[in-house]
Amino acid sequence: MIVDLPSVLVKARRGGYAVGAFNVYNLETVDAVLAGAGELRSPVIIAFGERYLKNFPIRAVAAVVRTMAQDSPVPVVLHLDHANRLESIEQAIGAGFTSVMIDGSKNPLEENIAVTKEAVALARPKGVSVEAELGRITRTGVAAEDLFTDPAEAVEFMKRTGVDALAVSVGTVHGLYKGKPTLDLERLARIAMDVHAPLVLHGGSGVPEDLIRKAIPLGVAKLNINTEMSIEGVNAVRAFLSAKGNENTRLEELMVEARNAMVGVVKRYIEFFGSAGKA
Ligand SMILES: [Zn+2]
Repeated sequence: MIVDLPSVLVKARRGGYAVGAFNVYNLETVDAVLAGAGELRSPVIIAFGERYLKNFPIRAVAAVVRTMAQDSPVPVVLHLDHANRLESIEQAIGAGFTSVMIDGSKNPLEENIAVTKEAVALARPKGVSVEAELGRITRTGVAAEDLFTDPAEAVEFMKRTGVDALAVSVGTVHGLYKGKPTLDLERLARIAMDVHAPLVLHGGSGVPEDLIRKAIPLGVAKLNINTEMSIEGVNAVRAFLSAKGNENTRLEELMVEARNAMVGVVKRYIEFFGSAGKA
């Protein structure tokens, strides 16, 4: 069943668990996410980033996910991850996505609010949910404290945009971490006190489990996992090739290895996010 973000996240925030948003790049990754979530009876978010459009055209993503989710026993959100352009949002909505993320976080507050409102105006009439980002989540391996989300700005941002979920910057980064990640849990708690919409952490791969366990009850209802899906898929292919690879190795065998490894990643995160059995 295909649903929007609030259908799974409002219950999650209230219930003190989080729903994983797993990035997909091709058919095998979609299959891995649906298989892992189905086995554990967990709601799940399939996230497709604007930057992967060269691998998988948006209408094909929507057709594949919608078709495969019909047979899934769990609620599935089809979510456009990190759109910088309103054009991508329009395309995703047209293709049948149920949720979109507008990322105006590079801009000053007023511009971020303005572009986010435009995204909401495109999405709402079509019944599509919107996630936005306030504060910046870097891609440099180290979180920058001066880019962390300001709690007072978060309140203003929510009041003026009315988005369904808010991605905050409190210590996570995109990609691999340099050194040990930390989370500013005190800041997260201050944001959550006045922002009642589900909060989102991007860059969940590699954050120590004890920190994530502390963050979830503070209002984090969506956690994004991208890097680890890719790394474990690649590692599985590499291990298979070095153990059994020969001149007859078939591409589809490698894809099954990658897919199975990714099912493992999905299940591991669902277990510790607490969403197993919540479908
Ligand atoms: Zn992100």
